[in-house]
Amino acid sequence: MPEFIKRIASGNLRGSALRILDANILGASCARVCPVDVLCEGACVMHRHNQKPIQIGLLQRRAMDAFYASGELPPVMGTAAHSVRVACIGGGPASLACAAELRRHGAEATVFERRALPGGLNTYGVAEYKLRAADSLREVEMIERMGVAFRFGESVDSAAALEALEAEFDSLFLGVGLGAMQRLGIPGEDSEGVMNALELIAAYKTGHLREVHGTVVVVGAGNTAIDAANAARRLGAETVYMLYRRGENDIPAFDFEYEHAKQEGVQFLWRRQPLAVRRDEHGRLLLDTVQVRQVERTLLPLPNSQYTIACDLLVPAIGQSPLTQLVQELRGVEVRKGRIVADPATGRTSHPRYFAAGDCVNGGREVVDAVAGGKRAAGRGSSRAAFGVRGANLAVLATAGLKAGATRLKHRQLPDVRRGRRCRGPALPW
Ligand SMILES: Cc1cc2nc3c(=O)[nH]c(=O)nc-3n(C[C@H](O)[C@H](O)[C@H](O)COP(=O)(O)OP(=O)(O)OC[C@H]3O[C@@H](n4cnc5c(N)ncnc54)[C@H](O)[C@@H]3O)c2cc1C
Ligand code: SF4
Repeated sequence: MPEFIKRIASGNLRGSALRILDANILGASCARVCPVDVLCEGACVMHRHNQKPIQIGLLQRRAMDAFYASGELPPVMGTAAHSVRVACIGGGPASLACAAELRRHGAEATVFERRALPGGLNTYGVAEYKLRAADSLREVEMIERMGVAFRFGESVDSAAALEALEAEFDSLFLGVGLGAMQRLGIPGEDSEGVMNALELIAAYKTGHLREVHGTVVVVGAGNTAIDAANAARRLGAETVYMLYRRGENDIPAFDFEYEHAKQEGVQFLWRRQPLAVRRDEHGRLLLDTVQVRQVERTLLPLPNSQYTIACDLLVPAIGQSPLTQLVQELRGVEVRKGRIVADPATGRTSHPRYFAAGDCVNGGREVVDAVAGGKRAAGRGSSRAAFGVRGANLAVLATAGLKAGATRLKHRQLPDVRRGRRCRGPALPW
């Protein structure tokens, strides 16, 4: 890290960007989305001198923006006739980092993504004001120009699909993230007017949802819940409540995210639990709630504390479930409590041909963790051999030309999405 900062200080922006990309191929998105207060800037030595930390995120962003403006690519080795072939399942940060690292070392990587666009939560999930879908896609496009092939709109969800990939590729990398949002488990939650946080944010980021009116209630108080509440405010909701069953001191969101939500005008309802969703005789959406108190680890409803909130949109945001359908289909890969078990240092699973990293392994952390895991799985030194990119091969790869013919990204012609507070351009595929 000090190295990339030193290069910026000496005016060597290109060198700085190449240093960042060498460590983190998604350096541009990380510069925007990393919770720097609790990561690099939180650990900055300046704190020891009672001074403000160096603005590492902003510096990283400056170097990366200049690099993207130049249209340059990070150096990659060409592929040789017998280079290793890896299928990366999932098109999010973990797979992108794994695929890019493999390409940098001359291996062939193909990313399979079930959604219409790659990028995972960078494209569809991370708050719009931090990272626009277009910026996520710009980063994916660079990785594609490095020679990574993409097949999207292709779900790998069955044992048969996995077998087909096993036959076509030497190794498989699993970067499938987490499953669907958890349900509230209360009557009426499938009513019209209920839209979970991931759906709301994805619709906002892709321009399918451009306005929200009236009152929005978000259930939950994690970072995703805060993103959804802020999104609702930015889309025009007059009142946004966040309903949380515990107190302010227990809020799982980062402090700076909580402060941000308050600045956006989001109001918090503490120690309140949802009971049921229904409609009144005028068709208005109603959320029945009850006040609770905590006795040891149990939440008990307070007598006569039921209260009904009339709203226009209800947004459950109580976390993603750990399982994706694919994880249930894996044979020979150990899965514990819905998470794939993989060695954090190498991404190795209990199946010799399967590797894994990112949210599907760690249960849901930050983009930078997924990138680091994907990169480690692609390997340096000895673990590179794990994927079959042998040292002897590398010398051949270094002299061979970059293999042409990777599937071109379909989003290339897509219009840029908005820079202002509301989406204005045509919607992106969702
Ligand atoms: C709402 C929200 C906001 C967030 N905000 C931040 C933030 O501000 N900063 C930060 O650092 N982190 C943030 N995170 C966390 C971060 O986005 C994740 O940790 C990161 O994206 C994990 O990367 P991944 O590649 O493991 O999974 P994902 O990004 O989830 O990507 C997995 C991909 O795999 C695809 N897939 C799944 N199953 C299959 C299959 N069977 N076949 C083909 N494709 C499949 C999915 O469609 C998805 O595109 C946020 C998370 C959420 C939910
Ligand atoms: S990748 Fe993220 S956490 Fe790491 S130095 Fe850059 S901004 Fe900080």
